[in-house]
Amino acid sequence: MIRVTIFNEFIHEKKEESVKAIYPNGIHAALKEHLQDDELSVRTVTLDDEECGLTEEVLAETDVLIWWGHIGHNEVPDEVAKRVQSAVLSGMGAIFLHSAHHSKPFRLLMGTPCSLSWREDGDREYVWVCDPSHPIAQGIDRYITLDHEETYAEPFSIPEPDKLIFIGNFEGGEVMRAGCCYRRGYGKIFYFQPGHETFPIYHHPQIIRVIKNAVHWAVSDYRKIIDCPHIQKIGD
Ligand code: ZN
Repeated sequence: MIRVTIFNEFIHEKKEESVKAIYPNGIHAALKEHLQDDELSVRTVTLDDEECGLTEEVLAETDVLIWWGHIGHNEVPDEVAKRVQSAVLSGMGAIFLHSAHHSKPFRLLMGTPCSLSWREDGDREYVWVCDPSHPIAQGIDRYITLDHEETYAEPFSIPEPDKLIFIGNFEGGEVMRAGCCYRRGYGKIFYFQPGHETFPIYHHPQIIRVIKNAVHWAVSDYRKIIDCPHIQKIGD
């Protein structure tokens, strides 16, 4: 079994009726329901949990961490963000969704502002497949249509992705690097842009397919803290 932990800040769903209507038990619960199967065991944690539910023990038992956050980024303690960064460098997989582009652990791992341009008017988005051969794109045809999504647009101040899997194209003409793969230390990272809280993006079967593919891609059997040992010459 692949052990998945979903972190969701869980703020909008409790405060805004329109979001609650789409995700009555939170984005994390919806993702868990859609992702859990014979191969994935999923646990969820939120800002309400002590240390965001992301203790050393939980991270050690996590193969892939999925992160959704927006207005609560600053409520995540720096210590927790650094703990997540270390776990990824040691081999834990991580998937950052939508507004998690500005989350503390993503910015730590990228080392850049990770800022972008945005507009919230429910434009249609086409999420275009750039590399149909990549494991994360399996089961997806040429593009995914999202009838309504928040517009996210370039320039997106991320490091050059190791591999670009999707480009988002919005009704207003904007484009956005919507699916980006990275490797940091021993860990694999996938950023995936769709997922504004006021639209039912995480109930879309193809979006779930991409996230599930990304979980399988990001998992690694190799887990080791990268140290800096003093060594003996061969033969000594
Ligand atoms: Zn959003």
